[in-house]
Amino acid sequence: METTPQPPAAARLREVQSHINAAAQAAGRSADDVHLVAISKGHTAEEVEAFIALGITCFGENRVQEAEAKFAGKTGLELHLTGPLQTNKVKQALALFDVIQTIDRPELIAAIARAMATSTRYPRLFIQVNIGQEPQKAGVHPQGLNNLLSLASRLGLQIDGLMCIPPLGQDPTPFFKDLARLALEHGLPELSMGMSGDYTQAIACGATYIRVGTALFGARSHP
Ligand SMILES: *Cc1c(COP(=O)(O)O)cnc(C)c1O
Repeated sequence: METTPQPPAAARLREVQSHINAAAQAAGRSADDVHLVAISKGHTAEEVEAFIALGITCFGENRVQEAEAKFAGKTGLELHLTGPLQTNKVKQALALFDVIQTIDRPELIAAIARAMATSTRYPRLFIQVNIGQEPQKAGVHPQGLNNLLSLASRLGLQIDGLMCIPPLGQDPTPFFKDLARLALEHGLPELSMGMSGDYTQAIACGATYIRVGTALFGARSHP
């Protein structure tokens, strides 16, 4: 069987960075305002090391335990949680992550507020919005956002931004624009949107964080 050799990490990174630069320029934005989060779920610590050696300092993981196994003890990195968070893992998450992108319900806000009261680490917090209002998808529906933001404010938690994953197989641009409008309405500066297949469109719509896995690391060995 013929196999296509994978281009090395450096080549994949260069390609992603050149797409980021082009998309930012086309949108009249500075590429410095678009932060690349390398989504390393399903990839090994060795693969992560290859990107650290290339100067990548910002990584994202979907599971607390997998992130701990891969990143505990590493310094100088910014680690994002981009998968669902159970309330019983909040303490562990505060200890490990610099940004939690997936806040989506009142119980989680309450648990984070409680844990932060005795924590020495205060990750930045984004709310995940189910922007396509899909039944199977995580995130608060747009009409529930107000409620979560006012709860966070009552409990003294600052929310810095919004995150979304638009519906598969549809033009993502209207969904990205919707998220950008919600962030603007609520005065939230950060927008986490765009993955390997759609990060250039997300940049055009104002993304400040893009979450790129496959385009950097290649296909995942497990989901
Ligand atoms: C897996 C994942 C990504 C990365 O997806 P790719 O298509 O591999 O770039 C981004 N964001 C979230 C929330 C993910 O779960």
